[in-house]
Amino acid sequence: METLTRNNYIEGAFTGEGGGNRIDVLNPSRNTVIGDIPDSGTEVVDRAVASAKKAQKAWAKLPAIQRAGYLRKISAKIRENADEIAKTIVEEQGKIAPLAAVEAQFTADYFDYMAEWARRIEGEVISSDRPGENVFLLRQPIGVVAGILPWNFPFFLIARKAGPALVTGNTIVIKPSEETPLNALIFARLMAETDLPPGVINIVFGRGATTGKALSQHPDIGLISFTGSVATGSAIMREAATNITKVNLELGGKAPAIVLADADLDLAVKCVTMSRLLNSGQVCNAAERVYVEKKIADEFTQKLAKAMAATKVGDPASQGIEMGPLINKPGVQKIHEFVKNAVADGARVVTGGDFIELDNGNFYAPTVLSDVNEGMSVMRDEVFGPVLPVATVSGLDEAIERANDTTYGLTSSIYTTNINSAMRAINELDFGETYVNRENFEAMQGFHAGTRRSGIGGADGKHGLYEYTRTHVAYIQT
Ligand code: NAD
Repeated sequence: METLTRNNYIEGAFTGEGGGNRIDVLNPSRNTVIGDIPDSGTEVVDRAVASAKKAQKAWAKLPAIQRAGYLRKISAKIRENADEIAKTIVEEQGKIAPLAAVEAQFTADYFDYMAEWARRIEGEVISSDRPGENVFLLRQPIGVVAGILPWNFPFFLIARKAGPALVTGNTIVIKPSEETPLNALIFARLMAETDLPPGVINIVFGRGATTGKALSQHPDIGLISFTGSVATGSAIMREAATNITKVNLELGGKAPAIVLADADLDLAVKCVTMSRLLNSGQVCNAAERVYVEKKIADEFTQKLAKAMAATKVGDPASQGIEMGPLINKPGVQKIHEFVKNAVADGARVVTGGDFIELDNGNFYAPTVLSDVNEGMSVMRDEVFGPVLPVATVSGLDEAIERANDTTYGLTSSIYTTNINSAMRAINELDFGETYVNRENFEAMQGFHAGTRRSGIGGADGKHGLYEYTRTHVAYIQT
């Protein structure tokens, strides 16, 4: 792959600044340098926000259906260039090739889906207490949105932020993760090839502590739409407090998967394995811990370990590979710490439990741990890797109680053939989403929103769209 050295994308053009601090981009399969980006400071962020602000008024005045037309042009560009995009995601993020292809297509689908909302952005007419008065509630754009992105679905997250922001009349400044900026460079190039008005989408590159912070503290940002870790979400709330900026936070998870004795065991094994290993375990709503009913615990754990051990791990660009590397060296080392600490506290490694040495990449063996309890960090903290602790429970009551014993609240799942058990889980699990007899992904027409420390607000569907609007009430006395 050609080494990409490019700059920020502001007001419809790549910017000229070449010097300053640069950040190397590594290939996680080999840890070789495949590109670099600037670490943009306040001056660059000011220019990007000014560009978005300048473009916003005219953009908001366009009928929504015309804005949707631009979204469709963006999705068409993505489809035309899907192979290049997918290849870059494989290269810089380590996603296996078929999943990277899905990400590119899904991103195009998402822009199309958000375009469909153009004729459905609705306000309200509210009955008044006064004779001859009309009360209207309008939904209006917030202004300039900052979209701060993680590295795990780097291309899709561009659409999840820009799609709803643009169709509702906002403009946006996107800050990709410094780990995975190269796909965003392609996106910027594709924008430059459309007639999207300059300034509607701007992309600035850099680290969280410089570029991200400068954006979050900027007085002209109306909404910070952030996806990433709880710790960064918390930092962004503090930064947003400077100007009382609205935040939308999609943060981490510690999803429990409950497997009851009446479950279709093979389905549960298949879904939980897929979920834990998808994107090398680096998915916010992946099964992070299992609570299996005692009667079937041995059979389930053995089948799970067999499926995990059979997974083909290797170069994500190669055919037939089912799991690639983790994002970086600290990431894979952190995974091993979880395992070592759990074992020191009495956990048993059923399969895996160590690095896989391959091409100097960040590979880790799919791992199942048994004899675990909530005192262990592997059961409490987001692992974000291919390590799955399996705890046994006496039944649904204990499973729900232990599943809820967490500070996270993103997603959860249950495997059962009993409708009453499924409904009880839905009613009593304290999470934003519950999957019954399936695992992630979520649907673009749903509402992906965590409770507790997993976030504020949400994404997707009607409710996600309206996160990008503010209300304006008019009282008209006739
Ligand atoms: P991260 O929090 O380390 O970084 C995310 C982004 O925030 C990066 O662009 C980073 O540069 C920026 N950032 C860091 N410090 C900042 C600061 N002080 N101010 C402003 N920006 C700052 O997260 P990550 O490691 O890239 O992503 C993994 C995390 O994201 C996991 O916890 C995962 O669960 C979560 N995630 C959540 C969802 C969801 O929908 N809930 C989806 C994907 C990922």
